[in-house]
Amino acid sequence: MAGSTPRVLIVSGPSGSGKSTLVQNLHGVPGLTFSISSTTRPRRLTESPGKCYDFITEAEFKRRIDSGEFLEYAQVFGRHWYGTPRKQLDDARRAGLDLVLEIDVQGARQVKQKLPEAIAIFIVPPSRQDLERRLRSRGQDADEAIARRLEGARQEIASSAEYDFVVVNDDLERASDELRAIAVASRCRRRDNDERLRKILESFGGS
Ligand code: 5GP
Repeated sequence: MAGSTPRVLIVSGPSGSGKSTLVQNLHGVPGLTFSISSTTRPRRLTESPGKCYDFITEAEFKRRIDSGEFLEYAQVFGRHWYGTPRKQLDDARRAGLDLVLEIDVQGARQVKQKLPEAIAIFIVPPSRQDLERRLRSRGQDADEAIARRLEGARQEIASSAEYDFVVVNDDLERASDELRAIAVASRCRRRDNDERLRKILESFGGS
Protein backbone atom coordinates (compact mmCIF):
# COMPACT_ATOMS: atom_id res chain seq x y z
CA MET A 1 0.00 0.00 0.00
CA ALA A 2 1.56 3.29 -0.99
CA GLY A 3 -0.56 5.76 1.09
CA SER A 4 0.83 8.17 3.65
CA THR A 5 0.83 5.54 6.41
CA PRO A 6 1.39 1.82 5.96
CA ARG A 7 -1.09 -0.65 7.39
CA VAL A 8 -0.04 -1.32 10.97
CA LEU A 9 -0.66 -4.54 12.92
CA ILE A 10 -0.16 -4.32 16.67
CA VAL A 11 0.42 -7.56 18.56
CA SER A 12 0.32 -7.47 22.38
CA GLY A 13 -0.21 -9.95 25.14
CA PRO A 14 0.93 -10.80 28.64
CA SER A 15 4.44 -12.01 29.24
CA GLY A 16 4.43 -15.78 28.74
CA SER A 17 1.40 -15.75 26.40
CA GLY A 18 3.61 -16.97 23.58
CA LYS A 19 3.21 -13.82 21.46
CA SER A 20 6.85 -13.74 20.32
CA THR A 21 6.57 -17.28 18.93
CA LEU A 22 3.30 -16.39 17.20
CA VAL A 23 4.85 -13.25 15.68
CA GLN A 24 7.81 -15.37 14.61
CA ASN A 25 5.34 -17.65 12.80
CA LEU A 26 4.04 -14.64 10.83
CA HIS A 27 7.37 -14.42 9.03
CA GLY A 28 6.23 -16.56 6.11
CA VAL A 29 3.34 -14.22 5.25
CA PRO A 30 4.23 -12.11 2.19
CA GLY A 31 3.90 -8.33 2.42
CA LEU A 32 4.83 -7.95 6.08
CA THR A 33 7.80 -6.25 7.72
CA PHE A 34 8.65 -6.39 11.40
CA SER A 35 9.44 -3.32 13.46
CA ILE A 36 12.70 -3.15 15.43
CA SER A 37 12.20 -1.34 18.75
CA SER A 38 14.76 0.66 20.68
CA THR A 39 15.28 -0.41 24.28
CA THR A 40 17.36 0.37 27.34
CA ARG A 41 17.13 -3.27 28.45
CA PRO A 42 20.48 -5.08 28.43
CA ARG A 43 20.94 -7.49 25.55
CA ARG A 44 20.39 -11.19 26.29
CA LEU A 45 23.10 -13.57 25.10
CA THR A 46 20.70 -15.11 22.57
CA GLU A 47 19.97 -11.73 20.93
CA SER A 48 22.01 -10.26 18.11
CA PRO A 49 22.20 -6.46 18.16
CA GLY A 50 20.07 -4.64 15.58
CA LYS A 51 18.06 -7.76 14.81
CA CYS A 52 15.75 -8.08 17.84
CA TYR A 53 16.23 -4.60 19.27
CA ASP A 54 18.32 -1.51 18.92
CA PHE A 55 19.98 -1.56 22.37
CA ILE A 56 20.70 1.96 23.59
CA THR A 57 21.53 3.82 26.83
CA GLU A 58 18.93 5.69 28.91
CA ALA A 59 20.58 9.00 27.93
CA GLU A 60 20.22 8.17 24.23
CA PHE A 61 16.63 6.99 24.76
CA LYS A 62 15.80 10.29 26.44
CA ARG A 63 17.44 12.21 23.62
CA ARG A 64 15.28 10.36 21.10
CA ILE A 65 12.11 11.10 23.13
CA ASP A 66 13.01 14.78 23.25
CA SER A 67 13.64 14.95 19.51
CA GLY A 68 10.29 13.24 18.78
CA GLU A 69 11.80 10.18 17.16
CA PHE A 70 9.33 7.69 18.66
CA LEU A 71 5.87 6.80 17.39
CA GLU A 72 5.25 5.45 20.90
CA TYR A 73 7.32 4.57 23.93
CA ALA A 74 6.76 3.15 27.41
CA GLN A 75 8.48 1.93 30.52
CA VAL A 76 7.59 -1.75 30.71
CA PHE A 77 7.25 -3.51 34.10
CA GLY A 78 8.36 -0.20 35.64
CA ARG A 79 11.92 -0.98 34.58
CA HIS A 80 13.34 -0.64 31.10
CA TRP A 81 12.22 1.67 28.31
CA TYR A 82 11.01 0.48 24.93
CA GLY A 83 9.98 2.53 21.92
CA THR A 84 9.01 2.24 18.26
CA PRO A 85 11.01 4.61 16.04
CA ARG A 86 8.85 6.58 13.60
CA LYS A 87 11.41 5.64 10.97
CA GLN A 88 9.99 2.09 10.98
CA LEU A 89 6.73 3.52 9.60
CA ASP A 90 8.52 5.49 6.88
CA ASP A 91 10.59 2.48 5.82
CA ALA A 92 7.49 0.23 5.66
CA ARG A 93 5.58 2.82 3.64
CA ARG A 94 8.43 3.21 1.18
CA ALA A 95 8.71 -0.56 0.80
CA GLY A 96 4.92 -0.93 0.42
CA LEU A 97 4.77 -3.42 3.30
CA ASP A 98 2.47 -3.81 6.33
CA LEU A 99 4.28 -3.09 9.59
CA VAL A 100 4.01 -5.50 12.55
CA LEU A 101 4.60 -4.01 16.01
CA GLU A 102 5.08 -6.35 18.96
CA ILE A 103 4.54 -3.88 21.79
CA ASP A 104 2.95 -3.70 25.23
CA VAL A 105 -0.54 -2.42 26.05
CA GLN A 106 0.64 1.12 26.91
CA GLY A 107 2.34 1.41 23.51
CA ALA A 108 -0.68 -0.09 21.74
CA ARG A 109 -2.90 2.59 23.26
CA GLN A 110 -0.60 5.35 21.99
CA VAL A 111 -0.46 3.89 18.48
CA LYS A 112 -4.26 3.50 18.34
CA GLN A 113 -4.62 7.16 19.33
CA LYS A 114 -2.25 8.31 16.59
CA LEU A 115 -3.27 5.76 13.97
CA PRO A 116 -6.89 4.74 14.71
CA GLU A 117 -6.98 2.48 11.66
CA ALA A 118 -4.17 0.29 13.05
CA ILE A 119 -5.28 -3.30 13.67
CA ALA A 120 -4.71 -4.38 17.27
CA ILE A 121 -4.50 -8.06 18.17
CA PHE A 122 -4.38 -9.34 21.72
CA ILE A 123 -2.81 -12.73 22.49
CA VAL A 124 -4.09 -14.45 25.63
CA PRO A 125 -3.27 -17.69 27.42
CA PRO A 126 -6.29 -19.99 27.90
CA SER A 127 -6.16 -19.64 31.71
CA ARG A 128 -4.18 -18.38 34.66
CA GLN A 129 -3.07 -21.95 35.42
CA ASP A 130 -1.74 -22.37 31.90
CA LEU A 131 0.15 -19.07 32.05
CA GLU A 132 1.67 -19.95 35.42
CA ARG A 133 2.80 -23.33 34.05
CA ARG A 134 4.44 -21.63 31.06
CA LEU A 135 6.18 -18.99 33.16
CA ARG A 136 7.52 -21.68 35.52
CA SER A 137 8.73 -23.90 32.69
CA ARG A 138 10.83 -21.02 31.30
CA GLY A 139 12.83 -21.27 34.53
CA GLN A 140 13.58 -17.58 34.20
CA ASP A 141 11.79 -16.07 37.18
CA ALA A 142 11.66 -16.46 40.95
CA ASP A 143 8.27 -16.96 42.67
CA GLU A 144 7.92 -13.27 43.36
CA ALA A 145 8.54 -12.31 39.70
CA ILE A 146 6.05 -14.95 38.56
CA ALA A 147 3.42 -13.54 40.93
CA ARG A 148 4.14 -10.05 39.50
CA ARG A 149 3.77 -11.28 35.91
CA LEU A 150 0.50 -13.08 36.73
CA GLU A 151 -0.94 -9.93 38.28
CA GLY A 152 0.31 -7.92 35.26
CA ALA A 153 -1.43 -10.43 32.96
CA ARG A 154 -4.70 -10.09 34.87
CA GLN A 155 -4.60 -6.31 34.52
CA GLU A 156 -3.71 -6.45 30.81
CA ILE A 157 -6.51 -8.92 30.03
CA ALA A 158 -8.98 -6.77 32.00
CA SER A 159 -8.00 -3.67 29.99
CA SER A 160 -7.93 -5.23 26.51
CA ALA A 161 -11.23 -3.69 25.33
CA GLU A 162 -9.55 -1.48 22.72
CA TYR A 163 -8.12 -4.42 20.78
CA ASP A 164 -9.83 -5.47 17.55
CA PHE A 165 -8.98 -9.19 17.70
CA VAL A 166 -8.25 -11.79 20.36
CA VAL A 167 -6.21 -14.94 19.73
CA VAL A 168 -6.30 -17.56 22.49
CA ASN A 169 -2.99 -19.39 22.50
CA ASP A 170 -4.09 -22.80 23.72
CA ASP A 171 -2.70 -24.54 20.65
CA LEU A 172 0.30 -23.02 18.89
CA GLU A 173 -0.60 -24.32 15.45
CA ARG A 174 -4.18 -23.05 15.56
CA ALA A 175 -3.25 -19.73 17.16
CA SER A 176 -0.57 -19.19 14.47
CA ASP A 177 -3.16 -19.90 11.77
CA GLU A 178 -5.54 -17.38 13.34
CA LEU A 179 -2.90 -14.66 13.53
CA ARG A 180 -1.87 -15.26 9.90
CA ALA A 181 -5.53 -15.19 8.87
CA ILE A 182 -6.04 -11.81 10.59
CA ALA A 183 -2.93 -10.38 8.92
CA VAL A 184 -4.14 -11.48 5.49
CA ALA A 185 -7.86 -10.74 5.89
CA SER A 186 -7.28 -7.25 7.26
CA ARG A 187 -5.93 -6.26 3.83
CA CYS A 188 -9.41 -6.79 2.41
CA ARG A 189 -11.05 -4.15 4.59
CA ARG A 190 -13.30 -1.95 2.48
CA ARG A 191 -11.75 1.28 3.69
CA ASP A 192 -8.27 0.16 2.68
CA ASN A 193 -9.32 -0.61 -0.86
CA ASP A 194 -10.66 2.67 -2.28
CA GLU A 195 -7.90 2.88 -4.87
CA ARG A 196 -8.36 -0.69 -6.10
CA LEU A 197 -12.11 -0.26 -6.34
CA ARG A 198 -11.66 3.02 -8.21
CA LYS A 199 -9.49 1.28 -10.82
CA ILE A 200 -11.95 -1.59 -11.16
CA LEU A 201 -14.78 0.90 -11.60
CA GLU A 202 -12.69 2.70 -14.20
CA SER A 203 -12.39 -0.56 -16.13
CA PHE A 204 -16.19 -0.50 -16.37
CA GLY A 205 -15.77 2.76 -18.23
CA GLY A 206 -16.89 5.35 -15.70
CA SER A 207 -17.29 6.29 -12.07
P1 5GP B 1 11.26 -8.25 26.31
O1 5GP B 1 12.19 -7.44 27.16
O2 5GP B 1 10.88 -9.55 26.97
O3 5GP B 1 11.79 -8.45 24.91
O4 5GP B 1 9.91 -7.42 26.13
C1 5GP B 1 9.20 -7.00 27.23
C2 5GP B 1 7.91 -6.33 26.79
O5 5GP B 1 8.17 -5.11 26.09
C3 5GP B 1 7.04 -7.16 25.88
O6 5GP B 1 5.69 -7.11 26.34
C4 5GP B 1 7.15 -6.46 24.54
O7 5GP B 1 5.98 -6.62 23.76
C5 5GP B 1 7.31 -5.02 24.97
N1 5GP B 1 7.93 -4.18 23.93
C6 5GP B 1 8.90 -4.52 23.06
N2 5GP B 1 9.19 -3.50 22.24
C7 5GP B 1 8.36 -2.49 22.58
C8 5GP B 1 8.16 -1.16 22.06
O8 5GP B 1 8.81 -0.69 21.13
N3 5GP B 1 7.22 -0.41 22.68
C9 5GP B 1 6.47 -0.87 23.73
N4 5GP B 1 5.55 -0.04 24.24
N5 5GP B 1 6.63 -2.12 24.23
C10 5GP B 1 7.56 -2.92 23.66
